[in-house]
Amino acid sequence: MTIQAERVVSIHYTLTNEEGETIDSSDGQEPLTYLHGKNQLIPGLERELTGKSAGDQIQVTVQPEDGYGTIDPDLIQQLPHSDFEDIDELEPGMELESIDPDGHIQVITVQEIDEHGVTINGNHPLAGQILHFNVRIEAVREATDEEISHGHAH
Ligand code: ZN
Repeated sequence: MTIQAERVVSIHYTLTNEEGETIDSSDGQEPLTYLHGKNQLIPGLERELTGKSAGDQIQVTVQPEDGYGTIDPDLIQQLPHSDFEDIDELEPGMELESIDPDGHIQVITVQEIDEHGVTINGNHPLAGQILHFNVRIEAVREATDEEISHGHAH
C-alpha cells in the first residue's frame, strides 16, 4: 500500500542539520504516526513521502521554504526587563511559551539579554535551516472514518 491522502503512516526518522548534528530522532521510541495529507508534517517531507510504501527508506533534504519557514525579522524584538521579572534565572537559549490573541501557544526563544532589555525570537527554532531527514516507512494503512473526520491518526 502506498502513501496517499487519508492513509495513516508510521515512520522512523532522524533529522540532522547542515552541520550533521542530530536535531531530532524517533530512535528508541515509538514510530511517528500521522494522517497523510493533513499538513501534519512539514510540506517538503510530506511531499517526498507520497507514493512510498512500508519498508522504503528515503533521504530528504528540505529547504527552509518547505520546512519551518525563513526567518522573519519582525518576530525578533527587544522587550524591557520588567516584562520578565516573574521569571527566575532568565538566560539566553531559554524557551518560553506565550499565548497569542487566537489562543495558540507560541514558543519564543530568549536570544540575548543586555542592559537595554531582553531580545526574544518568535521564529521556530528550525526556521531558516536546511533540514536532512533520513526516514524509514514502517507501516501504511487506510485511515478509519473517525480518523478522517477528526483530521488526525488515533
Ligand atoms: Zn481524534
